[in-house]
Amino acid sequence: MLVEVPFGRISLVGLIIEVTTYSELKQSKLKAVLRVAPLIPLNDRLMELGYFASQYYIHGLGETLVSAIPKWWRTSSNWSKPLQQLIAKEKATAQSNSKKKIAQNQLNEEQTHAIQILSNHQAGTFNTYLLNGVTGSGKTAVYLTFIESLLKLDRGAQALIMLPEINLTPQLQRRIQEHFPEENLAILHSGLTEKQRGIAWHQAMTGAARIVLGTRLSIMTPLPKLVAIIVDEENDSSFKQQEGLGYSARDLAIWRAKNERLPIILVSATPSSQTWHAVKEGRYQEIQLSNRVGGFQFPNVELVAPHKSSRSIIMSPMMIRALEVNYREGRQSLVLINRRGMAPVISCSSCDWLSECDHCSSYMVMHRQLGHFKTPMLCCHHCGLVKPIPQACPWCSDVDLQPLGRGTQKVEDQLQTLFPQATVLRVDADTARTSKKTEALFQEIHDGAAQIIVGTQMLAKGHDYKNIGLVCVLDADARLYSNDYMAPEHLFAQLVQVAGRAGRFSGAPTKILIETRYPDDPVYQYIKTFDLAGFMEHLMSTRQEAGLPPFSYQALVHAEARQKKEVLTWLNHAKLFLQKTAYLQTGITVFDPVPKSIARLGGWERSQLLIESRHRAPLQALLNELEHYFRQQSLGRISKVGKVRWSIERDPLFI
Ligand code: ADP
Ligand code: ZN
Ligand code: ZN
Repeated sequence: MLVEVPFGRISLVGLIIEVTTYSELKQSKLKAVLRVAPLIPLNDRLMELGYFASQYYIHGLGETLVSAIPKWWRTSSNWSKPLQQLIAKEKATAQSNSKKKIAQNQLNEEQTHAIQILSNHQAGTFNTYLLNGVTGSGKTAVYLTFIESLLKLDRGAQALIMLPEINLTPQLQRRIQEHFPEENLAILHSGLTEKQRGIAWHQAMTGAARIVLGTRLSIMTPLPKLVAIIVDEENDSSFKQQEGLGYSARDLAIWRAKNERLPIILVSATPSSQTWHAVKEGRYQEIQLSNRVGGFQFPNVELVAPHKSSRSIIMSPMMIRALEVNYREGRQSLVLINRRGMAPVISCSSCDWLSECDHCSSYMVMHRQLGHFKTPMLCCHHCGLVKPIPQACPWCSDVDLQPLGRGTQKVEDQLQTLFPQATVLRVDADTARTSKKTEALFQEIHDGAAQIIVGTQMLAKGHDYKNIGLVCVLDADARLYSNDYMAPEHLFAQLVQVAGRAGRFSGAPTKILIETRYPDDPVYQYIKTFDLAGFMEHLMSTRQEAGLPPFSYQALVHAEARQKKEVLTWLNHAKLFLQKTAYLQTGITVFDPVPKSIARLGGWERSQLLIESRHRAPLQALLNELEHYFRQQSLGRISKVGKVRWSIERDPLFI
């Protein structure tokens, strides 16, 4: 139960998780609860999930459970507000744009087969399904139909649908409302106001909402009559929270489904290696959709060598020609580059000076304009530092400072110059600063208002654009040659996603042009034929050989401090401690501490220590001991000596 209690001279909101009749304190020392929130208690199933998450992700139970409750409810002054009125008001605005009944498409043969498999699911049992289908194969229609059948069976039943990104919720929300015009839908993501989220959460926890659509934070929503969970785009790394309780919402969803004996459907065109492995081991049941709805063809993939960069032309002439042809045919083109701004760095023509950030070990990016600054600026994408561009080189005073490389703004400028008649639209974190603006940009694409769209990977996900005839991917290699073993997996998935935006219409074949220096790399070889199975088998054999996940389990110890020496001392001591425990005999490897890929961020020196284990259980035990060892020398999560901020992350996605 959520309550307000006296705490020293102030009062705080907290959760009562247990009631006892005995206390070691004198009765006069005990204080009474001030106020109880007007909420039903969190149900047992949710508490179990909280206990599990807290233990698995090595995070305090209080922090875990309380952070799962919307802030609006954690503010006790809201408890006396007229809730029913607020709900009614919220509903009135939300429903003015729904309620139109849209006839649903007849499912095709493959989809019907998928539904048959799902409808054989025995209620009250746990099973994980992988709904694996190429982009545009009608996966959404399948899971919505499945949910429909469950909601019909039981008038109180609830379903949870999770998406990786806020950007994708409006379009799925529309589809759900069209499919279920009568049902109460609750939306939960961080783009809502605190009040909206508070109300949606309340609708979910009382059972008033039959369908809950949310991003990763929605996994901890109390749902009294949950009957199924859907995790759409299950491989997406956004399901993993990077800060604080570093949970994977996908993994927690599977745990929750198991604990509550429910079917869970993981949905993807490019399943994660972890899911793929589970299917091969027979732990998950795969359902395949192998054809695109309407028989639309996949785009033809062509690998293009990068153009020798010159100041005037920044893309390969072949790409420019393809853009021109596609434009003349009245189709839209997507141009993707994973770097926003004008140029990733500026340099001095006479000495070695580069625009490095004062606080980070990375470069400041040149922006043509930035927020309210209308002149070119330098900006660090890691710590947010913004500075004017120096008039002259800070080292040698030469005034000839040159931008190097290209970002979304530069590509936009160049394409607008090359295609003066076309409307060129840029979609990146700078133009899509709020969820409203983002939605408006996506709407422009859907409406066909823009013919050439330049943007970062936020363009690539999920959207069901109907008129994309060409996709150009610039700098595809950028992520491939990092030391991150997950990079090829992420790149492959991203390219499939990108390709999935093209050709959702009948007619001439469409194209995807990928700029790469390494056309022989397996990622590119398999993408040419969209051979997911071939690529995954290749990936699995390399992972198995190297003993990497999913053939092992990992944890990362993160540490940062003002002084590099303190960080390394802390991690070296951790390593020594770990070597003294008995667990190393159980197949656990502790690596040396190393600086992170961005070793200094906002003035903090950062390093990490990787622990790898062949089995889950000993790793868990080891991490518990390590945490205990750390806690003894810390206040909270900051070491008493050296002021090192530390955390332990399970199943890291980026190393
Ligand atoms: P996925 O989720 O696999 O990418 P979607 O479910 O979004 O695919 O379907 C792609 C498009 O095809 C959508 O516009 C959807 O409305 C449409 N669609 C899905 N199933 C059918 C069907 N059986 N008949 C006609 N159109 C369909
Ligand atoms: Zn210089
Ligand atoms: Zn910085």
